[in-house]
Amino acid sequence: MVTVIEHTGGRYDVQATEFGRCYRWVPDRVVVDCDCGERPVLSRSETTCAGCGADHTRALLEELDARRREDELLHPWRYNGDCEGAAIRETGFAELEFV
Ligand SMILES: [Zn+2]
Repeated sequence: MVTVIEHTGGRYDVQATEFGRCYRWVPDRVVVDCDCGERPVLSRSETTCAGCGADHTRALLEELDARRREDELLHPWRYNGDCEGAAIRETGFAELEFV
């Protein structure tokens, strides 16, 4: 059983630009305590420990699912059908906000 040490991300970073603000999607990052002693930082695209090659996909997906269920209880409107946020997460960048 792998222990999850930290879960960050799943948020937008705001960058000021000449014409307004740009929102960049920062994907989830999960730090686990691997049996080899390493603490790899995992993401949806990186699920193995660099130290020993152990595959932590299951622990990562369980953590992401638990976080999603918590968020769904707090913000049910985010999970009600399609929304603009889904398109932003796909590209990693939102359109500029003009002020
Ligand atoms: Zn390891």
